[in-house]
Amino acid sequence: MPISFYNTLTRKVEEFKPIVEGRVSMYTCGPTVYDFFHIGNARSFVMSDVVRRYFEFSGYEVNYVMNITDIDDKIIKRGNEENRPSSEVAETFATAFLEDTKRFGIRHASTHPRATETMEEIIAHIKALVDKGAAYEVDGDVYFRVSAFKEYGKLSGKKIEDLQIGARIEADDRKENPVDFSLWKSAKPGEPSWDSPWGKGRPGWHIECSVMSQKYLGKTFDIHAGGNDLIFPHHENEIAQSEALTGEPFAHYWMHFGFLNIDNEKMSKSLGNFFTARDILEKYSAEVIRFYYMQTHYRSPLNFTHEGLEAAKTGLQKLQGLYDALEDAKTGSASFDVAAHEQRFIDAMNDDFNTSAAFGALFDMTREANTALHADTGMDDASRASLRDFLQRSCEGVFGILSSEKDDGGASSALLDGVMQLMIELRAEARNEKQWALSDRIRDGLKELGIVLEDSRDGTRWKTTT
Ligand SMILES: [Zn+2]
Repeated sequence: MPISFYNTLTRKVEEFKPIVEGRVSMYTCGPTVYDFFHIGNARSFVMSDVVRRYFEFSGYEVNYVMNITDIDDKIIKRGNEENRPSSEVAETFATAFLEDTKRFGIRHASTHPRATETMEEIIAHIKALVDKGAAYEVDGDVYFRVSAFKEYGKLSGKKIEDLQIGARIEADDRKENPVDFSLWKSAKPGEPSWDSPWGKGRPGWHIECSVMSQKYLGKTFDIHAGGNDLIFPHHENEIAQSEALTGEPFAHYWMHFGFLNIDNEKMSKSLGNFFTARDILEKYSAEVIRFYYMQTHYRSPLNFTHEGLEAAKTGLQKLQGLYDALEDAKTGSASFDVAAHEQRFIDAMNDDFNTSAAFGALFDMTREANTALHADTGMDDASRASLRDFLQRSCEGVFGILSSEKDDGGASSALLDGVMQLMIELRAEARNEKQWALSDRIRDGLKELGIVLEDSRDGTRWKTTT
């Protein structure tokens, strides 16, 4: 079976047919950087990362784009609350986003475009919509004219008439139709703004994603992904704004990740069960959390529990145990059929990225392999090598949950990450206080240990030189 997965647009599991043979163009909605991202967002980012990695495992070259929304109402609100420029708030949390995704083992996208760096293209897109009659200006604000796009509602299944009834309650009489939505918002005093044909202002959230995705992937691309909660209105509006202009399909496949609940309750700050990705990484390694996420199908709701995480830890140790045992085992004589197990893994993943079934195959293999390793005949070198190779490509390459450098289920990597984060923060503090000798000592001391620090606009990163 070729790779097939559920397309929200057609409401069917469909075989994946790329626009360009051997290549995948994929866009996943990234964070609005007004806070640390939470474990529900982390689930979407991790599952999207796994999909990307699986395409690569299957031989595709993936152009993977994830935006950073760095201008938005929530960012401005936080800036006002903290009495600092909203651009500074955005920079803080964009840096934190890149740090946290890295700690989660989420691979850096091919491109992480930022809305504020795409302003010229956003304004040009809105202007073209206005010129085409698909958008209109009222006193410096620009709205999308929903009636100009006949297919509005095709992703979410919502009907314009029903939406109109709901929207009338909060009707803005400046809009022609209550369901029309904002493309450009005129600047209020003290807000960050950009010059445009409609005066100073800033773009709406939906248009940012339409333009950032098309800028890097072209007017039609393969896959658009994001959390379930983004289907309406965000993704519906992205389609309308894009297709109303190009007259061509925006994305061929729409992929959506399920919600995450905590102990069967919706996660919320008011219920006191709100966890950022950072919070949870203090208690569990990224590998354990990733493994836990993948035990549930990406489209299903996931119930996040402490017991579940503990069980994931135990499960992960079994896989890591086999990985380590394969290296340490003595040469035996019996062969082991890895190909059959690999085929089960592939069949499961090709069937709508069924990660839990893929783990079923991996655990069956682990049990059989352990039995073979402990039998008198042992396992021959070629079998051990191909087993390790498969575990490396599947668990490390696709799932990001094993490492040949670890023997503790991933805890040491999380620990090192944590320690390095602390070192980086201490060095930044020393620099802020102009304690140059101390900051140099931290950098040089780490260098002697084989760790180099790299300063960039996204913050300081570290890497090992050995
Ligand atoms: Zn988006």
